[in-house]
Amino acid sequence: GQEAVYLASVSDQGAGLVLCVFRDVSEEELAGVMRRDFVANVSHELRTPLTALMGFIETLKNAAKDDPKAREMFLSIMEAEAGRMNRLVGDLLQLSRVEAEERVRPREPVELRGLLEAVIGALKGVAEKTGSTVALVGEGAVLPGDADQLTQVFTNLIENALKYGAKGQVVRVTLSAEETVRGPGVRVEVADQGEGIDPVHIPRLTERFYRVDSHRSREMGGTGLGLAIVKHIVSRHRGWLRIESEKGRGSRFQVVLLLG
Ligand code: ADP
Repeated sequence: GQEAVYLASVSDQGAGLVLCVFRDVSEEELAGVMRRDFVANVSHELRTPLTALMGFIETLKNAAKDDPKAREMFLSIMEAEAGRMNRLVGDLLQLSRVEAEERVRPREPVELRGLLEAVIGALKGVAEKTGSTVALVGEGAVLPGDADQLTQVFTNLIENALKYGAKGQVVRVTLSAEETVRGPGVRVEVADQGEGIDPVHIPRLTERFYRVDSHRSREMGGTGLGLAIVKHIVSRHRGWLRIESEKGRGSRFQVVLLLG
């Protein structure tokens, strides 16, 4: 790639000189760095459960061979680790599919209220586990899109609200009209009553594998790819994602989609 070096001198009331050196990396170079980072991250994320699996296999072959109780326990941990790898590979495939189609705007008619009702129904079990409920308000709207991908968007957002929100909370999903600079649109807001997110993290939440608390995310079975997938699908739909949050006051994730 190209490299440019700028030298600038700034005099500070004649007292001294400040020398600034900027390195300008080309887009190509940046893409290469990002790709290498991504491959390194994926390898690390896959290796963690794989190492655990290999350790337990070894234990099952030796120490736990004749202990049925231990065997059972190790097998259920192995099942969870294999499940984690499976989710990760599934999310990676999803991400690469969405990226491959990024330039083609999907245009099948999607009825948003019905779609949200189906998503909320499918997450009933997750909500019940924490004693939470999901409430949906607002009028229906039909817009051009990809129903499967939008189902994925709202599943990820509502699942996060349930995972990172407070126990026994009400997650509010609100559908409303929004006039955008690019014409009439519809806004879907997912608001939780959780602990909120420190503003410093907000701009980075949609990066692949970015987590505020990686221990917590892993414990919850998260892959760290959910919001990256949301961002790509929403941008493929020529829409926007807004995130608002305050520590201690819950978070609001808003998706704005165009009606035409
Ligand atoms: P994960 O698989 O870790 O949930 P996501 O990409 O879906 O990955 O989210 C990235 C991170 O953003 C999470 O690890 C979590 O720290 C934070 N996050 C997402 N949604 C919420 C929420 N509703 N409340 C608080 N934190 C959230």
